[in-house]
Formats: sequence, structure tokens, C-alpha cells
Amino acid sequence: MNSLRLVRSTHPAVSDVDVRMMERAISLARQAALNGEVPIAAIVYRGEEILAEAANNRERAADPTGHAEVVAIREAGRKLGEWRLSECSMVVTLEPCPMCAGATVNARIGRLIYGATDPKAGACETLYSIPSDPRLNHRVEMHGGVLADRCVELLRAFFKERRAAQKLAKEALRAADAIRKSA
Ligand SMILES: [Zn+2]
Repeated sequence: MNSLRLVRSTHPAVSDVDVRMMERAISLARQAALNGEVPIAAIVYRGEEILAEAANNRERAADPTGHAEVVAIREAGRKLGEWRLSECSMVVTLEPCPMCAGATVNARIGRLIYGATDPKAGACETLYSIPSDPRLNHRVEMHGGVLADRCVELLRAFFKERRAAQKLAKEALRAADAIRKSA
């Protein structure tokens, strides 16, 4: 089954445009991993028009708020000359954290489509339900778990590789220490 039909069978309200955007976000996230960023990416679009796309840039920008969603939402607002993004949808490869879920509410994003759920920081269904909280002044239509397997796999591979690199670095340090001590 191709990915569109697979998604459609579980998420009837997710369109082929949404799935194409998610596939594009997955490619962006993969690219980010090559630059040493945690592979998460987001795209804000209106209809089929991409307004902004971004990957995590926390490392490169040394920005604690440099999550893909915040970077993309800011750029979309600049591009539209309007902070209200109610006619826009956003795809993101990982369930947004409290900051980013808050940003989707503050931006009045119309629809949010995300991939993997996040047991450590997910604020859309896992730890909190910020975009659907009736106490807030805007509710976001949400569809989670879209192409989740591919989004999870990207993250899993990234952290596995990073752990292996850290282990190698530690071993190299130990070896250098041993040489110094024996000299
Ligand atoms: Zn976030």
C-alpha cells in the first residue's frame, strides 16, 4: 500500500497535500540530521502553497527556542504580513512540545498534522492537550500519527548514531589518558 492510501485508511481528514507536505518535512528533517540537528521539521502551508519550512536549528542558531515549528510559524507570519495563520495548516514530524503547541494556538493555526508522538515532551495528546484545550481562546484541528513510523525511525537512527559517536569519543579520551600516564 502506498503511504497516501495507508494514511487515508487511518486519517480520513488528512488530504494528499498534507501527506505530500509530511513527506517533504521528513526529507527536511533528514537533511537537518546531517547538520547535527535533531531531525525534526515543520512546514506551514495554505492550500498547496508553502509559506515557510524549517528544521530544528537550535544548535546552529544557538537558540533555545529554535524548534522547527516556531521557526516556521515566525517565517510564515513575516511572509503573510499577518500574525494570524488561521487559513494555514502545519505539518511537523514530531508531536509539538508545550512551547510549540502554544505557538500554534497563538498563531491561530487552522490545522496541525504531526507524525510521531513524543512521550517526553508531547503537548498535543501525550503530556498535555494544548491545541484542543477548551479553556484557551483558539482550538486547532489536529491529526497525529501521520507517517509516524518514518518520523520515529529518523529520530531513532539519529540518537543511535549520536550515542555511538559519544562512546567512540570517550574511548579515544581514555586511550589518550592511558598513553599520557604511561609516558
Ligand atoms: Zn517545540
